[in-house]
Amino acid sequence: MRAVVYNGPRDVAVQDVPDARIERPTDVLVRITSTNICGSDLHMYEGRTDFPRGGVFGHENLGQVVEVGAAVDRVKVGNWVAIPFNIGCGFCRNCERGLSAFCLTTADRGVMPNMAGAAYGFADMGPYRGGQADLLRIPYGDYNCLKLPPDAEERQNDYVMLADIFPTGWHATELAGLRPGESIVIYGAGPVGLMAAHAAMIKGACMVMVVDRHPDRLRLAGEIGAVPIDDSKGSAVDQVLELTNGIGADRGCECVGYQAHDPQGEEHPDMTMNDLVKSVKFTGGIGVVGVYAPQDPAPRDPLYKQGQIVFDYGLFWFKGQTIGTGQCNVKAYNRQLRDLISTGRAEPSFIVSHQLPLGEAPNAYRHFDARDEGWTKVILKPAA
Ligand code: NAD
Ligand code: ZN
Repeated sequence: MRAVVYNGPRDVAVQDVPDARIERPTDVLVRITSTNICGSDLHMYEGRTDFPRGGVFGHENLGQVVEVGAAVDRVKVGNWVAIPFNIGCGFCRNCERGLSAFCLTTADRGVMPNMAGAAYGFADMGPYRGGQADLLRIPYGDYNCLKLPPDAEERQNDYVMLADIFPTGWHATELAGLRPGESIVIYGAGPVGLMAAHAAMIKGACMVMVVDRHPDRLRLAGEIGAVPIDDSKGSAVDQVLELTNGIGADRGCECVGYQAHDPQGEEHPDMTMNDLVKSVKFTGGIGVVGVYAPQDPAPRDPLYKQGQIVFDYGLFWFKGQTIGTGQCNVKAYNRQLRDLISTGRAEPSFIVSHQLPLGEAPNAYRHFDARDEGWTKVILKPAA
């Protein structure tokens, strides 16, 4: 089968690799028809993680089941499924509590002896190959496949967002504690930040502010009713304070991660975290879904080599704020979000700018990585 293989920093190629196949009786095999490029892929693509050369990318996957293992009950050949990027078992202590991003069964203990969590095609998250390929093996398939309604094939560009970024944006607002009628500021208008804004609008926020400096991304935020804040035109914190009568937003979301930078492009891994502390009100909540990797092999700030940042903890504590972090437990939300899509209450495909054949992946990575104007979200279509 063909797959998008990582050959080193900023070097991916579509290569032939051994076919994915059923390896255990609980596996499901899916023919991938939609697979997104994610901002998380870019940390790996740029060589800023431990992702191994020769590994296959792709954790935002949707497709049709072509084979099921002997122990699979619920999922049938022919089903259209969205596949959460987390690989859970469904029966460990964490999965049972809905914390499917922290599965204890599928985690790779070679990373850390007490490691929790696994994902497809992801640095430090196990040996599982990604789905930017013709086929993908789904471990514990009954648990890890979300069945889709009859309009799945036509509406793939919406449903594929259930694999990661729609639940992740939703999770950011949950971690922040957003309630109807509250205001929220979201740092980052990439796909994840825009999904957090979409979630906040659906949940009834009174004002959704989105900070970035790319006009195309800010335009999309404006189109769904959020207030775009361009931090290349002046301090984001000042603009948020001005919009909130000097008080700050009730809630804040971090949707950028450790490669946060100023509008001139210089990286400051602590920038968005400290801006959140300043632009969220006393007693407000902050949800952090932007990735902070525990190590960076090519850090721009020497401190970040070991994943450390200078955090304004004194002000954070003084303001009585709370913070929630981590990978999204996709299974905690994906059924409900699927139903919001199928009834027309949510339409996460509004961010999609490009649908391309798998062979275009190297070109697509280049443009999305450069955050080139008009490249807001790419879906690769292996079956096209
Ligand atoms: P992206 O790189 O396309 O978007 C990030 C956006 O942040 C860009 O538009 C960039 O201009 C903006 N930005 C950079 N520095 C900024 C700053 N100082 N202030 C405001 N905006 C700034 O990526 P994405 O796909 O939207 O993903 C965002 C983050 O979420 C990444 O770190 C990704 O790895 C992470 N992620 C986490 C999860 C999870 O489960 N926690 C899931 C998916 C993605
Ligand atoms: Zn992703």
